[in-house]
Parts: sequence; structure tokens; C-alpha cells
Amino acid sequence: MKAILIKEPHKIVVTDIEMEQLKSEKDVLIKVKAGGICGSDMHGYHGTSPFINYPVVPGHEFAGLVTEVGEAVKNIKVGDHVSVDPVISCGECYACKNGRYNVCSDLKVRGVHVDGGFKEYVSIPEKACHKINENIPWEVACLVEPFTIASQSLSRGGINKNDIVYIAGAGAIGLTILLTAKSEGATVIISDISDAKLERAKAVGADYTINSLNTSLEAFIEEHEAIDGFTLALDAVGHPSIIESILPSMLPTGRVVLLGFLKAPSNLIQMEVTKKELDIKGSRLSCNKFSIVIDCIEQGLFNPKKIISHTFEYTKVEEAINLLINRPDECCKVILNFETEA
Ligand SMILES: [Zn+2]
Ligand SMILES: [Zn+2]
Repeated sequence: MKAILIKEPHKIVVTDIEMEQLKSEKDVLIKVKAGGICGSDMHGYHGTSPFINYPVVPGHEFAGLVTEVGEAVKNIKVGDHVSVDPVISCGECYACKNGRYNVCSDLKVRGVHVDGGFKEYVSIPEKACHKINENIPWEVACLVEPFTIASQSLSRGGINKNDIVYIAGAGAIGLTILLTAKSEGATVIISDISDAKLERAKAVGADYTINSLNTSLEAFIEEHEAIDGFTLALDAVGHPSIIESILPSMLPTGRVVLLGFLKAPSNLIQMEVTKKELDIKGSRLSCNKFSIVIDCIEQGLFNPKKIISHTFEYTKVEEAINLLINRPDECCKVILNFETEA
């Protein structure tokens, strides 16, 4: 069978590997149908992820058809459509015992620490597989994972319909947060430095857009009488200056959620946090969000298709990567189609 393999940084190939077999009686074998390329796959390609051991099969956003089930599998049967949670946790550490397995001390992520789903068949434990209605297209089914990231970050921030939500960054993650926040009824303001990305955000449903190259948050609030500050802010960029710029624009009791992974320090003004009793929280991967997101998609509360900018056959993965590198403004979510035979 075929697999996409990052052999070493900057070297990605489609190659023949041994046919995947069921790895445990608790596993199901999935014929992968579609996958989404994510920022962390790009870090894997560029060699900028501290977690990857090469060679690695990338891909943590994927969905497929169940073709075989192990003897101990109870709730999934051959023919089911499933979307896969990429998180692998130990079940025994403090976080796991408190139900927060997404920040397990021994966390592993499929497609990062261990091989992921960008191959024709993959064996996955039943508990990581989430059934999705067969009338949902594969390119949507594979996007459940990025929408769980949005759901996690908004639940960390305690979203409600009265929130004035500010999202820094109108890339794929920013737009999944935007769509999810709009489905909750909140007012959403989103910023970026790319007008093309802001145009897409507007089309997806943003109430206001800010180009941070020419408008500060203070200036935006000054110009808009209806907005006197933000109650919930999410940093989907991860630059150290972002949280510094957000704090003065937060209203009392506001919540700030960080999704970035940069090591560079930020200069926070303590008084902004204390005098307004702001909550600053991190959000990583997702915890028990797959069934919630699948419900929303099946009910049509938001349409993940809106974030798809391009679709490639998986054999053309290198073309897809080059597009993401060379024309980032034109890209949002890029999908790999695994349905055709290589
Ligand atoms: Zn992702
Ligand atoms: Zn654990």
C-alpha cells in the first residue's frame, strides 16, 4: 500500500510500505479517504517541530471507512465512517486522572510523535474513532479534528452568545474558531496582516475585520461605538506581542485563550490582569470534543467546507506543500483526497 512519508526535513515522498494489519484486537482498520494538511505537518516538513522522529507518516486530521474490526471492538462495525482523534495518552498521570488527557504528561500525537494517517490504511484503537454520518462528505469528515481545536479553545474561554470575541489570526485555525463562535451566537472580530485572509474571514461570517498592519485594537474600538472592548480573546497566531496588545482591550472579567507554541517571552502588564480579573488560559488539542463537533456538523450548525481552499490527490502532496509555502495568502485548509487508487 502507499503512504506519504517525510523522510527528513524538506523531503516528502509517496512510497510503498507493507500493508497495514490490525495492531490489536481493540483496533479497527480504516481505509483513509481524506486528510487535512495542518500547520504541524508543515513544521514536520520544515524540520521545525521539536517532537518529530524521522522518518514519519504525517497527518493528524483524517477520516475514513472501517474495513475490518478487531475481536474486542464493541461499537464500531465494518462500513462505518469514522473521524480519528490523534491524541494518545497514558491514562495514569495527574492530567489523565483528572479527565484532561489532551495534556497528558506522556502525550503523543499521531502524525507528530508517531506515524499519522496519511496512508491508504491505518489501524487505530476503537476508542479514538468517532462515527460520523455517511452523508457527510469525506473532505468535511476529515476536518472534525481542527474544529475540535476551536471547540476546545472556546470552551476553555467559556464562550456564550453575549461575548464580544476577538480572534488574532485568520488562518485555518482562526477561521474554525470564527465559524464555531458564530454558531454560538457571539459577535466576532478577527485580525490578520493579510487582506486576502480577512476577505475570506468576512465571507465566512466575521462581523468585523482588522488589518493589524494599519489598525491597532485601540483604534478599532475607538472607531466602533458598539464595541467598547472584548470579553473573550483567542490568540491563533502565537507571536509574543499579541497577548501584550490584547490585555488593554479586554473588558473586566474577560478571558484570554492562547493556542501558540512559541518560546519567546511576552511582556505582560500585571495590572491589566488583576484590575479586571482576567483569566489567561492555554488550549491544546482537544478533550472530549469529537462527538460535540460531529453533532454540530450533522445538524448543520456550521459548514466546515467554508474553510477549504484547495483539494489535491494525495499523490500530489508535494505540490500541495509547495502551494502552502509559496502562496500562503491564497490558502486556508488544503485537503488531500485518498479516494482514488495510486
Ligand atoms: Zn491540525
Ligand atoms: Zn497521562
